[in-house]
Amino acid sequence: MSRVIKSPRGMNDLLPPESSKWLYFESACRSLFERFGYLEVRTPIVESTELFARGIGEATDIVEKEMYTFPDRKERSLTMRPEMTAGCARSYIEHAIHKREPVTRWFYTGPMFRYERMQTGRYRQFYQVGVEAFGAPEPSVDAEQIAMLYALYTQLGVTDLDVVVNSVGTGDDRQRYREALVAFLTPHRSELCEDCQRRMDTNPLRILDCKVPSCQLLVVDAPNILESLGPDSRAHFDQMRRHLDGFEIPHRVNPRVVRGLDYYTATVFEILGGSANLGTQSTLVGGGRYDTLIERLGGPPTPAMGFALGVERAILSLPGDPSEYVNAPLAYLAAHGTAARERALAIAHRLRVAGLRIEVEHREVGLKAQFKRADKLGVRYVVTLGEDELASGEVKIRDMNRRQEIAVKLRDLESALKQRAHG
Ligand code: AMP
Repeated sequence: MSRVIKSPRGMNDLLPPESSKWLYFESACRSLFERFGYLEVRTPIVESTELFARGIGEATDIVEKEMYTFPDRKERSLTMRPEMTAGCARSYIEHAIHKREPVTRWFYTGPMFRYERMQTGRYRQFYQVGVEAFGAPEPSVDAEQIAMLYALYTQLGVTDLDVVVNSVGTGDDRQRYREALVAFLTPHRSELCEDCQRRMDTNPLRILDCKVPSCQLLVVDAPNILESLGPDSRAHFDQMRRHLDGFEIPHRVNPRVVRGLDYYTATVFEILGGSANLGTQSTLVGGGRYDTLIERLGGPPTPAMGFALGVERAILSLPGDPSEYVNAPLAYLAAHGTAARERALAIAHRLRVAGLRIEVEHREVGLKAQFKRADKLGVRYVVTLGEDELASGEVKIRDMNRRQEIAVKLRDLESALKQRAHG
């Protein structure tokens, strides 16, 4: 026998009924984001490697060690996207979107790829839903995105949300802070983990995000980034928080949330939650403002604000078993005898084309087995067709919940079921 082929490590199949929970979540996102004026964008899964090196930053974990990079047949270096903000920014610039409209609001959903060390809740192909707003510097845009997310998770039944906000200021603010942080950490250099010792020289802010306990302990007393903010950054942050209060979003400030990527300016935030199911991987969303990214990638100066949420974690945080998210068929057509089966198949086809979810059996099996299957599928109505029904042109619709039957003419079956589907 030949060897069984498995999916690549860290890359998973999404199977029914789990996929129904995903669909439910994704359509909740779509519907909510559209109400806030965001429209869907789709960019390629593969981009030129340079985009991520310049966009995300050479000294980030993602670019340093997590990218799936390969040469194409003409030796151009390509990378499977590890996130989508850089791709959105590239697309915004390439199509000169700023000339079409002053403010652009996009959302996206799709797979991302990072060569991660394997641990629960971390995958090498994972899915993100995210939004980007280009062209608006106002802190109200930041607060509105956070409020939109809060509404999303609340509406989906996640109750223990923890909204954490911070500001990393402008480039100058960050430079000042970087110096203060390095001065504070230098005497403790040898106590830092290996990665953080390297980060001291490349990206010291990242040390604040490090998950190694000894590093976390060290940074407890580190200088507070909010104290390095200039007056404009401070005012932006304060105003953003006032808007959050206006939207009635409970939140707290944590000056150690800086997010690892180079492109962030001003607001950064995380939303934690769903801890009952997620344990330590409870960061549901991360995001922030990136006012310099578009310019850094060769576009006009354009303020921007966005976030990305991890779909796998969102799904784990949602209450309910996946099977509860599967829409049961409206009706099951049970047939008795060959002639009735042929007729049932034709009727089922007509009803499906007319927009109804109908189950019908293709195999020659007895009525008892068909009723059992109808029950298992959780259908509300069962219609039985046998020789008598064919002769009389009348069938009975059995309501499985109420345990009642009503008789209808075969030609009225469609309208009778439609009435029940909408009733
Ligand atoms: P990031 O793009 O790193 O800011 O991550 C944003 C969100 O994406 C996180 O809060 C996670 O929910 C999710 N995420 C990031 N990396 C992974 C991964 N390797 N596997 C699963 N989810 C991830």
